[in-house]
Amino acid sequence: MKKNILLTVFSIFCLLLSCKPKTKTSTIEVEQGTVQNSIIQKIAQLKADGYEIVDYHAHLKGGLSMEELLDHSKKTGIDYGVAFNAGVGFPITNDSTLLANYEQYKEYPVYMAMQAEGREWVNMFSKENISTFDYVFTDAMTWTDTQGRRMRLWMPEEVFVDDKDDFMDQLVSQIVGVMTNEPIDLYVNSTFLPKVLQPEYDILWTTERMDKVINSAVANQIAIEINARYKIPSATFIKRAKAAGVKFSMGTNNTGKELGTLDYAIEMIEKCGLEPADFFKPAKK
Ligand SMILES: [Zn+2]
Repeated sequence: MKKNILLTVFSIFCLLLSCKPKTKTSTIEVEQGTVQNSIIQKIAQLKADGYEIVDYHAHLKGGLSMEELLDHSKKTGIDYGVAFNAGVGFPITNDSTLLANYEQYKEYPVYMAMQAEGREWVNMFSKENISTFDYVFTDAMTWTDTQGRRMRLWMPEEVFVDDKDDFMDQLVSQIVGVMTNEPIDLYVNSTFLPKVLQPEYDILWTTERMDKVINSAVANQIAIEINARYKIPSATFIKRAKAAGVKFSMGTNNTGKELGTLDYAIEMIEKCGLEPADFFKPAKK
């Protein structure tokens, strides 16, 4: 009999213990849900105030389907521009693969974007086919330095920094070169630095370097992306660019199914005093 009572007490004790972690998990879930809801409310408020909330830099990557993207769009209120990567080493390398991709997705209620990769793309596709897209963008993350080393700045093993200032000057002249020579509407992953230099972002992006990029964007009428994934450019850069008359886009550059809610870009609207007229808007073709 005593044994039974002990067993019952023990079972109740176990039950209580097993309940505890469950309570913790659900508290975290509730907290995450609350944060998510407050961002969704913020997006709704911005739209009511005349802002168009568009993520112009989404990819169908990591198994993300167009249907899932549209479902996320419905839940969050964010509209989308879906970008297809084209260039050396990417699935789209010529006019026929570029057009096939376009045909496959053109009927969906999203902007269609071409993300041009590397510096070679300018000679790989015809002007007519490029112009079927609603907008074209590129970044300056892939380039060859003065010593002939082709770098992809997001791959630490492909980055060569012998001298930080020399590297920065080369990067800035690459960005200006891209803006001057390539027929793009948007410059994305703006001001991205390789991991080894990221802690010194504010020191290395001097006023002089920022202004070279900003002036080139103005001269070539190219909008600059505020990137939610990398949290760039800095508020200092955005404020300077706004003052010079640059237009902005918001973008995520997702690598997997997670599209997020443009948190950093939305934070910058308030922090930098961005108004609806400060944003890029392509014509839907
Ligand atoms: Zn991208």
